[in-house]
Amino acid sequence: MTVPLDKIRRRVRALTVRAAHPGTPPAEAAVARAMAADLTSRYGLDQLDPVPRPTAAIAPAVVHWMAGFSPSGKQSRAWCRCGYGTSPRATEDRALRALMDSHPLDAAECGLCGVVYPAADWVKFRAFLQVLKDPVTGDEFAMCINPRTCKAVGF
Ligand SMILES: [Zn+2]
Ligand SMILES: [Zn+2]
Repeated sequence: MTVPLDKIRRRVRALTVRAAHPGTPPAEAAVARAMAADLTSRYGLDQLDPVPRPTAAIAPAVVHWMAGFSPSGKQSRAWCRCGYGTSPRATEDRALRALMDSHPLDAAECGLCGVVYPAADWVKFRAFLQVLKDPVTGDEFAMCINPRTCKAVGF
């Protein structure tokens, strides 16, 4: 089974972003950096097109996750973290369903280890997954908050 190179590239970027993030402890950053270097050489990414995106005109990747509700009179609106919101619905459940129907949400998946949480359980998975932004490309990456439970960067 071959893994698509795009996926490996994205994983390398995610590891690099995690390593460079100020909130990442030094030991974990070192592991992430070593993993990125290992993947880069194993898949020969350094010998391919060094620019991860074909053109800067492509909008940065944004993680679309359910972000919360806001009241609208007696009704509720549901919001994606990108800023998209539904029209007012009678209940929060209906607002969430309307959001999922009208606006494709991303899987609650760690880009490093691949663990997936149920997307509808949006309050719960936020305790385990975080979004980090690549300061270079503006791309966002979802990944485990805790490196000890992340199968990719775990110690
Ligand atoms: Zn969105
Ligand atoms: Zn993970």
